[in-house]
Amino acid sequence: MNLHEYQAKEILRKYKLPLLSSKFYENNLINLETDLKLLKGPPWVVKSQIHAGGRGAGYFKNKFNNKGGVQIVNSAHEVKKVANSMLNNTLVTKQTGKQGKKVNRILVEEGCKIKKEYYLSLLIDRTTSKLMMIVSSSGGVDIESVAEKNPEKIKNILFQDIKSFYIKDDLRKILDLNEDQYQQLKIIVNKLGKAFVELDASTIEINPLVLDESGKFILLDAKISIDDNALFRQSELLKLRDLSEENELELEASENNMNYIKLEGQIGCMVNGAGLAMATMDIIKEFGKEPANFLDLGGTANKERTKKGFKIIQSDSNVKSVLINIFGGIIHCDMIAKGIIEAINELNFKLPVVVRFQGTNASEGRKLINNSNINLISIDDLTEAAKKVVELSNK
Ligand code: GDP
Ligand code: MN
Repeated sequence: MNLHEYQAKEILRKYKLPLLSSKFYENNLINLETDLKLLKGPPWVVKSQIHAGGRGAGYFKNKFNNKGGVQIVNSAHEVKKVANSMLNNTLVTKQTGKQGKKVNRILVEEGCKIKKEYYLSLLIDRTTSKLMMIVSSSGGVDIESVAEKNPEKIKNILFQDIKSFYIKDDLRKILDLNEDQYQQLKIIVNKLGKAFVELDASTIEINPLVLDESGKFILLDAKISIDDNALFRQSELLKLRDLSEENELELEASENNMNYIKLEGQIGCMVNGAGLAMATMDIIKEFGKEPANFLDLGGTANKERTKKGFKIIQSDSNVKSVLINIFGGIIHCDMIAKGIIEAINELNFKLPVVVRFQGTNASEGRKLINNSNINLISIDDLTEAAKKVVELSNK
């Protein structure tokens, strides 16, 4: 579960981390003028709150002033004008996709004179199962392009002792800090580490962490993701969930114990098991097409869930053909076949569907598919099935 920047900052403020004062607005700008009197400025920074990074370098669909989702402004009048134009406007960034995201929330923050921008994030390193910090002295810009062009500027550091957040590496040298800056950063890292553990976070990303003109570290941006598996014991955080930021189909799937991720391609996929789903997507790409989604029905898929999965795939208008790839273990292929046939009849689904069954009751399942008299093709071999579904998507 992702948090908004304003939510993340509110939480980090409780850890007494160095943040600038700010005010948050939802759907309207009531009290903006009086609030501004309490915020140091000008300049102020007006920040669109959406669940996507790259806002600064993004653009608005109506291009009201040809600037991005984070704007530095120099008068109260201009704060109001910019914030007003951002609200209800659609912001497109590298991470939103072309359709962009509608801005319903705005954060207005005190401006800051930046001397240097750093990147700092915390996450779990899955290889060592340890808390890891990623730092770079090339912050501010998107870290993906630093990773691509100057990978030596990014350093991964493992926490050796989680209780004291002890790290072996010398942050002073890595980030070229003086003693005072180093002492400040040590405290920041310690507090962020504590927050990470207490919040059951999967990521905390501060980009940029800046040194201001007075030589003080400040967290200018903050992104926190909470581990979904821990939400059962993070009821306060769960209240911060913004469902309007989540894909409707992905939500519906997760409510039905399926794992669905919408992608940009044209071939719908319905598979049981995450590994098999990945392999299915790979083989579609191998034949020159892109999958429309990742959909894992799960190891305990039944007829009802198959029907739900079908409905979800059907609601994606990009889909041109569908590949169903089921390996029967606990689940029975004939039961899935019945679900598929019922779903197609009920939904009046017109697109071609290729079904590949292996494992438990595969031959019974194939028989049902072949005798169904609807637009269904059963192919036993995955390579052949993928080839066919790609061919059908071109018609
Ligand atoms: P993102 O683009 O979605 O990651 O949004 P950020 O909050 O990181 O803002 C983008 C950029 O705007 C930052 O990297 C900073 O360079 C700049 N920025 C944000 N706040 C301030 C500020 O208070 N003063 C100045 N001068 N720049 C800021
Ligand atoms: Mn940022």
